Amino acid sequence: MFKSFLRYPNNLSQKMLHVIFSIYLVVTFIITGLQFLGEYLKTQDAIVSELQQLEATVRGPISNSLWQYDQDQLDALVSGLMQMPIIEGVSIVDQNGQNILAKVTHSSLSTPISMFDFTSELSWTINGEKLALGTLRLCSSSSVVLERVWFGFVLIALTAIIKIALLFWLFIWAFDRYLAVPLKELMMQVDDVQLSRNTSKRIQLSNTEDNELNQLQEHMNNMLNAMSNDRQQLLENEQAKRDWLEEAVAKRTEDLQMLNEKLQYLATRDSLTDVLNRGSFFEAAQLQLVHSQHQQSTVSFILADLDFFKQINDTHGHFIGDKVLIHFSQTVKSLLSESDLFGRVGGEEFAILLPNTDLEDAFQLADSIRQAISNTVLELEGKAVSYTVSLGVEASEPEDQVIDELFKRADLKLYGAKDNGRDRVEK
Ligand code: GH3
Ligand code: MG
Ligand code: MG
Repeated sequence: MFKSFLRYPNNLSQKMLHVIFSIYLVVTFIITGLQFLGEYLKTQDAIVSELQQLEATVRGPISNSLWQYDQDQLDALVSGLMQMPIIEGVSIVDQNGQNILAKVTHSSLSTPISMFDFTSELSWTINGEKLALGTLRLCSSSSVVLERVWFGFVLIALTAIIKIALLFWLFIWAFDRYLAVPLKELMMQVDDVQLSRNTSKRIQLSNTEDNELNQLQEHMNNMLNAMSNDRQQLLENEQAKRDWLEEAVAKRTEDLQMLNEKLQYLATRDSLTDVLNRGSFFEAAQLQLVHSQHQQSTVSFILADLDFFKQINDTHGHFIGDKVLIHFSQTVKSLLSESDLFGRVGGEEFAILLPNTDLEDAFQLADSIRQAISNTVLELEGKAVSYTVSLGVEASEPEDQVIDELFKRADLKLYGAKDNGRDRVEK
């Protein structure tokens, strides 16, 4: 602790301690110096008053010796004075300013810093008349004062040193206890909160007094709460955006899927009659044939061609021809089951594939179609339109692997129906 204090302060509490203690040290030096000076001056005053008392004691005998010109007595008196510890020098000067006697102590080898004296007038009274005899000067010096006050000085210095030492440790203890330790705790808690995964963690100082640190704790916790709320809000916004995006993507995917299905449907259908087009019919029929052969079941193939359709076009126009094609498709569709395949394979030529159906059943169905058509008179744009259809029917053989074979055979049967007068079914 002491060493760290002496080092250049690198944290707040140490810096404050450094500044305060330096100020305290300077103030203590000044006060101690003033105490020294006060003690010195007081002692010097005391010595001056002692000199005064001594002077009062010896003034009479010295004046008497001077009056009687008794040099021996004068020397004896001055020697006696010089024995006094506070006397550093004695001088007697007559009224003309001539030195009668001057003595300075030789005990002190070093010259004193300063000298001070007490001077009084010597006189002799005769017949009521006062005669001036000269001046008596008793000297003392700073050495005498210092000799007397050194113990006091030592005491003052010791007191100051003890005070400084005690206060130094007390300062360090108080700063450590009330500033450095709480600040360190606050910093550690801030680090804890920062590193914690728990976003609801807050700073909780052990000292609950209402002081600046606790106020700082409250401010920081308020800031953490605000940040946590903002984060929560941000997450909610983010989630809402993500939900919206997911919904939009799902909707778009659904739309695309629908569009795709629609396109796929359109790609396989004949646009006029909405039945399978030639390509998709033969594709599906080929698969069905392979499947049925695998299952060792029979499929039947019906090929239908409208009779004299060119005439219908020529007589009623293409628009009515198209309506006839649509009518034929719808009529056939109404007579088929879900599993049957039906497609437009040429202009007015249609094909039907019937899974699990033998030749006889296929013939019956083909004839039902023929009858349904020939029995119908269409009312189109105010005109009565009737038409017939010829059909060729063929059933699969176990060796049939390609749908074209079946198609060709059905086509031959269809030619037969045409040749035999139309509005017929040939098997
Ligand atoms: P047959 O009894 O021998 O089959 O005689 P047909 O007139 O039906 O046969 P042909 O092959 O001579 O004529 C078929 C006609 O079908 C010719 C063509 O103009 C017509 N046609 C083909 N596709 C369409 C179509 O999509 N719409 C209309 N309106 N007519 C079509
Ligand atoms: Mg034809
Ligand atoms: Mg025809």
